[in-house]
Amino acid sequence: MQELLPKAKKEFNKLQKRLRRQAGQAIADFNMIQEGDKVMVCLSGGKDSFTLLHLLMGLQKSAPVRFELVAVNLDQKQPGFPEHILPAYLTEIGVPFHILEKDTYSIVKEIIPEGKTTCGLCSRLRRGSLYGFAEEIGATKIALGHHRDDLLETLFLNLFFGGSLKAMPPKLLSDDGKNVVIRPLAYCKEKDIATFAQMMAFPIIPCNLCGSQENLQRQVIKEMLQDWDKQFPGRSETIFNALQNVAPSQLADRQLFDFVGLEAKQKAQLAQRIQLVDTLSHPA
Ligand code: SF4
Repeated sequence: MQELLPKAKKEFNKLQKRLRRQAGQAIADFNMIQEGDKVMVCLSGGKDSFTLLHLLMGLQKSAPVRFELVAVNLDQKQPGFPEHILPAYLTEIGVPFHILEKDTYSIVKEIIPEGKTTCGLCSRLRRGSLYGFAEEIGATKIALGHHRDDLLETLFLNLFFGGSLKAMPPKLLSDDGKNVVIRPLAYCKEKDIATFAQMMAFPIIPCNLCGSQENLQRQVIKEMLQDWDKQFPGRSETIFNALQNVAPSQLADRQLFDFVGLEAKQKAQLAQRIQLVDTLSHPA
């Protein structure tokens, strides 16, 4: 960690406390970690996953339940990937870890035509390898470093380009039902994480070693949300609250709400009311 002046130290402590509280709250609200869990923390080498690991290590000491932590990095064999950084860091902080080697870089290069965005396939391959490895080592939870802003960006990406009203859940069961994925940073702001990672001087490895650009659409959404937040402070909080306050009867998804059977429901309610009035006016 950087040497800090007293004022900066105070700010750092405040920030660390806030991030810890938010991660602890998300874990509690979604029952993310239970007694005896083996939590596999996916460490990409970015600010988010370093922060996640740091917070979970802190929470492990104070949590009312006992759980194990194991950090896993997938070395995707991108040219120039500094292989020594993560093992050195993880050894220094004393957390059990695995470095998984899979040349997904070559697969992506082979499949995706030159000049096209590679991040979609790259992340899918990464996810497949990590999920499979979690099973191998008997991990009961897979912790990912997505934060509140990732959740919001995904909401708008799906809304604008996917035609669906869905974000990125704080906790989910993988499609094959084999893995439970948790996102303990779901309540944390990206800005806080970025400041924290800088103050902690984590040895960050940029996720563009392959020369790929960050998903352009996501970048546009990110800027839109940042602009909104400047113009209307608190807007992101409000939208995030909306994700936790959904009213299916006020949308138009027939799978979520029985619009077709509304009249039958009305009749049933009416009959119930009549019966209640009858019972009250003719007590036994
Ligand atoms: S920037 Fe490179 S390493 Fe990162 S997700 Fe995209 S393709 Fe994969």
